[in-house]
Amino acid sequence: MYSLPKLPYSYSALEPYIETQIMEFHHAKHQQAYVDGLNAALLKHPELEEKPLVTLLQDLSAVPEDIRTAVRNHGGGVENHTFFWESMTHRSGGKPVGQSAQHITQFFDSCDQFKAIFTASAKDRFGSGWVWLSVDPSTQHLVLTSTANQDTPLSQGLSPILALDVWEHAYYLQYFNRRVDYVAAWWNVVDWEKVEERYVNVIK
Ligand code: MN
Repeated sequence: MYSLPKLPYSYSALEPYIETQIMEFHHAKHQQAYVDGLNAALLKHPELEEKPLVTLLQDLSAVPEDIRTAVRNHGGGVENHTFFWESMTHRSGGKPVGQSAQHITQFFDSCDQFKAIFTASAKDRFGSGWVWLSVDPSTQHLVLTSTANQDTPLSQGLSPILALDVWEHAYYLQYFNRRVDYVAAWWNVVDWEKVEERYVNVIK
């Protein structure tokens, strides 16, 4: 059985960029609902309980059909939010570091250009979803994508290193319909050390 993971910081840690009430609802209500939905699905297939969630999401076709959609949505919701919490910190250095910084600068021409493309992708994601920076482990190239709902790049064979939640529940209480303002604020809390750690883990 899955349980709600602990946030790596307090609900107020990302103020003023992401306010306390958003963090509290996002974690204690929204992610909790995904945990509950995933557990309800897995009750029907106890043989899957031993499998890591990432493994299930990497090969959804291997998940029994009667719970495949539930694992995709709720399992994705559990995994994506944990990944998202760990992508943020109140001690952000503000810019990429290490080998990932070098690759981002090389691939997108500059860090500012990377942020501009990422932000445009967030703006263009219709409805609810996510924006991702991933590494393709087979080519070691960086890949910038967005996904709908709780879909994850893990299901496309990619290894994500940075995620942004662009569901309205992630920003509406503070930024209302101004998703781009939310993204502009969010850059202030990105944990680039964590991005680097994930990058090095894929590349090695
Ligand atoms: Mn969310």
